Amino acid sequence: MEQRTSRSMASGHPPWTIEQAADLYGIHRWANDYFGLNSDGNVTAKTLNTQVPLLDIIHGMAERDLQMPVLLRIENILDAQLCRLNEAFRNAIDECGYQNRYRGVYPIKVNQQAQVVEEIADFGARYQHGFEVGSKPEMIAALSTLKEPGSLIICNGYKDAEFIELGLNAVQLGFECYFVVETPTELPIILERSRALGIEPLIGIRAKMTSAVSGHWNSTSGDRSVFGLTSTQMIHAVDRLRDEGMLHCLKLLHCHLGSQIPNIRDIRSGIVEACRYYADLVSEGAAMTHLDLGGGLAIDYTGAQTNDGQSRNYSLEEYCEGIVDTLKTSFDNCGIAHPVIITESGRATVAYSSVLLFNVLDVTTFEPVALPAADIERPELKHLRDVFSYLTPERVQECYNDAHYYRDEIREQFKFGQIDLRTRSIAENLFLDILQRIANLMDSMDRVPPDLEGLRTSLADIYYGNFSLFQSLPDIWAIEQLFPIMPVHRLQEAPTRQAVLADITCDCDGKIDRFIDPWEGTAATLPLHPLKEGEEYYLGVFLVGAYQEILGDLHNLFGDTNVVSVRLNRDGSFDFVKEIYGDSIADVLSYVEYQPKELYKKFRDTAEQAVKDKRISASDRQRMMNTFNASLQGYTYYER
Ligand SMILES: *Cc1c(COP(=O)(O)O)cnc(C)c1O
Repeated sequence: MEQRTSRSMASGHPPWTIEQAADLYGIHRWANDYFGLNSDGNVTAKTLNTQVPLLDIIHGMAERDLQMPVLLRIENILDAQLCRLNEAFRNAIDECGYQNRYRGVYPIKVNQQAQVVEEIADFGARYQHGFEVGSKPEMIAALSTLKEPGSLIICNGYKDAEFIELGLNAVQLGFECYFVVETPTELPIILERSRALGIEPLIGIRAKMTSAVSGHWNSTSGDRSVFGLTSTQMIHAVDRLRDEGMLHCLKLLHCHLGSQIPNIRDIRSGIVEACRYYADLVSEGAAMTHLDLGGGLAIDYTGAQTNDGQSRNYSLEEYCEGIVDTLKTSFDNCGIAHPVIITESGRATVAYSSVLLFNVLDVTTFEPVALPAADIERPELKHLRDVFSYLTPERVQECYNDAHYYRDEIREQFKFGQIDLRTRSIAENLFLDILQRIANLMDSMDRVPPDLEGLRTSLADIYYGNFSLFQSLPDIWAIEQLFPIMPVHRLQEAPTRQAVLADITCDCDGKIDRFIDPWEGTAATLPLHPLKEGEEYYLGVFLVGAYQEILGDLHNLFGDTNVVSVRLNRDGSFDFVKEIYGDSIADVLSYVEYQPKELYKKFRDTAEQAVKDKRISASDRQRMMNTFNASLQGYTYYER
């Protein structure tokens, strides 16, 4: 991907249109038809043939005293996405004449929030959508949330005796709960526990996949993968089961190639490998019925439809057809009955339904201010001042170098006390003025000197957002993930500023300076509108439903954000289905082992001592304690 450093924005050009805004932010390319723009310049959430402006929902939050930042979950989108996934497989199965069905499971690790897991159980019930669990806590969540008998529970991860007992109970309760053997040590525990409880287990085997897969997350496959059984271990497991008279319990093969697989060809070639394992397990005499292909269905975060790691070169329909068609051909060739197809799509199920909304608190610009002529005339500034006289397209590089040279000279003189602060400030301002003029000249130049390519970016505004990158968008920081980011209103106006975003953690890593550019891949700046006096400016970070919530941390003790779940109605109205207030200051302090009651008592002692020493009055003390207490109960973010 190429980094774009500048694009001249429409100023003084033909009138700005909503279509231009849609193009600029690429909303129709990444939104999967779940978000759009209306003629008032608002981003809308779209479902059921209605559109609801996000700004209306934000106003509803403000009326309920739900402060920014807020994680907005739109239930209908989760519902629709589950439906699309199941229907796309159903259609592909019908079209290919595949002789079995599709069963989806949701891997709880992708977003474990109770609300999300409950919604998936509810909306998924009509498809018997099940869960994939990788730990005892996830198992407990699945067992207490699923209602439909016959729903699948796929148990991955390391399983101890207790985990296995929970799973055997699930089988007895009527769930199809499979133990996927990931390591050779698990099998004896499964056999022992099921014999002890007299419950026959449903057993799967996870194959160590050797098909190479491109993309960010995909060291899951290959010889050194930490997951799954090698072919030798698989044969040992089969022999052991046969010896114990339990080979009929081995019914499922599990193959997970990785997450966010951008290239459909990698998926197809992985499936061919999976079919080979499956066919040979059948020949070995296992009573195989299910083939679980794991996760990997990608999200097109950039909207570029490429095989780049943050995109995908296939549609949902192509994914399903690719799988079903490859399976049918492979199994028909070796005369094996078609198995039930399972996938464990996590990212693709939940990413679209959550949006992080925040307001902008402040902006720093790097524009020169107008100065009185007398100030500019100071003799110490002669060299800098002279640069303006030869500022032409032919000499921009020279001016650029000279401006830096003389600016640095002034800074040195300031250090040694030869010029004062006021003079230095004027010099810095002249310097900015020169750079801005150079940047403007560059817009009309055919060839820009390489030195100057980053100039626009270095002059970009800094917009300070009311959010913590570490809490709400950890993958931007950790793995340079890209998410679509854009203003959710004012899109009928041309965005005339270029900006980078800073969060409120005051950490130099707490910034966003890589954005999706629909034309060129990535951009170093984001086009935004200038702030208006007395009016909030709201930005949305989209497609954040997968993996972000649980990985977030308490950097600078900024806690969980408020969460609002809405359901859109056919008439364009919406209901606030659930509100979860984010962490209070007392909450986050208690996570790091402070006792809020104890803190209050200690503060009281300090204040009481001040009363005794006559530094404050008793009523001062009371006022201070009230503020202290209100603050403890309050939100960790910037409150208006
Ligand atoms: C993480 C994981 C998934 C989810 O993958 P997505 O790409 O998010 O769909 C599915 N199965 C297993 C075994 C996983 O580890």
